[in-house]
Amino acid sequence: MAEVILDHVYKAYPGNPEPTVKDINLHIKDKEFMVLVGPSGCGKSTTLRMIAGLEEITGGTISIGGVVVNNIPPKNRDIAMVFQNYALYPHMTVYENMAFGLRLRHFNKAEIDRRVREAAAILGLDDPKENYLERKPKNLSGGQRQRVAVGRAIVRQPKAFLFDEPLSNLDAKMRVQMRAEISRLHHRLESTMIYVTHDQVEAMTMGDRICVMKDGIIQQVADPISLYNNPSNKFVAGFIGTPPMNFFDGRLEEKDGKMFFVEDTFSIELTDPEWKKKVQAANVTDVTFGIRPEDIGSETAEQNPDFPRIKAKIEVIEPMGAETHIYLNTGKHNFIARIDPLRKVTYGEEIELSVFMPKAHLFRNDTEEAIF
Ligand code: ADP
Repeated sequence: MAEVILDHVYKAYPGNPEPTVKDINLHIKDKEFMVLVGPSGCGKSTTLRMIAGLEEITGGTISIGGVVVNNIPPKNRDIAMVFQNYALYPHMTVYENMAFGLRLRHFNKAEIDRRVREAAAILGLDDPKENYLERKPKNLSGGQRQRVAVGRAIVRQPKAFLFDEPLSNLDAKMRVQMRAEISRLHHRLESTMIYVTHDQVEAMTMGDRICVMKDGIIQQVADPISLYNNPSNKFVAGFIGTPPMNFFDGRLEEKDGKMFFVEDTFSIELTDPEWKKKVQAANVTDVTFGIRPEDIGSETAEQNPDFPRIKAKIEVIEPMGAETHIYLNTGKHNFIARIDPLRKVTYGEEIELSVFMPKAHLFRNDTEEAIF
């Protein structure tokens, strides 16, 4: 079992006024692919480095496979880390780069050879015509170098793999390819993997679960679809998804027993009794209405005459091929809609778009927490 548990973990760097990581509680299950995601500087790498033992823990405990590792040095934690800058030894061949860590640990030659060749096969570095294993890192592409770095981790057969932004040095196409390769690797090796990235697309596509962080604090931990559909606050709602969720700042008003979200250019009745209950429990007036670009002006929304409509002017049209993004302005707010590419729209046109209410969100303005 290689579950990784962070229990009330804090990190304060000397000289910084505030702790960088605050009260992190995270239970990463055995064989789980957990992604830590958040904007630059939110404390993801610090958290990962504390798990690795490369950074001291200021408070709390971290355990790996049931053993508290707070005072165990990195080399004895039985984990392997893959970094953004592959950190390969330039003077060694690919084979030696992968074998090196095992030699240090006094594995016998045959076992080293078996593990290196197996890792090379898993990573597609075993084509005899290409002779990758005998090449030096400088004679490899960026993607191949990253594979060697992963290979070096695989041969160790660690309890857990830690990845720190491993794909950020690769070009966009290679990143997409390596993303799928690491996912495939996870299914094949069935090991615990913890992966740090600032890229929400990487998080969504790779994680069994995603831990969203901001300012050293966990905002939400959930599987990708739950995170997308039920963000617990406005930050998560805006961080996950491209183009991002549209937000409309406004207030709640009750009239003749009916509940409305009202902003300067439109108002929307909240008809669902569940919403009303949640709104009443929240007991606030200032709120933000959230709707994702695909839930405004979509075919499903347009077909239902009961859904509210927002009138706006088209300012930009971006044909993406499979869909069209339109940037609109209500006179007060800008927002984006993802519409059917066959729908004819023109610059400057005033249109009305239906809001698919089952996918609507409402956030309190004081704490930014989701009401629904
Ligand atoms: P992320 O990986 O989310 O980009 P980091 O964990 O690298 O964030 O850094 C979080 C914060 O901690 C940053 O503000 C950074 O400046 C600070 N920090 C990181 N390492 C150190 C250090 N060794 N000493 C002081 N502050 C640090």
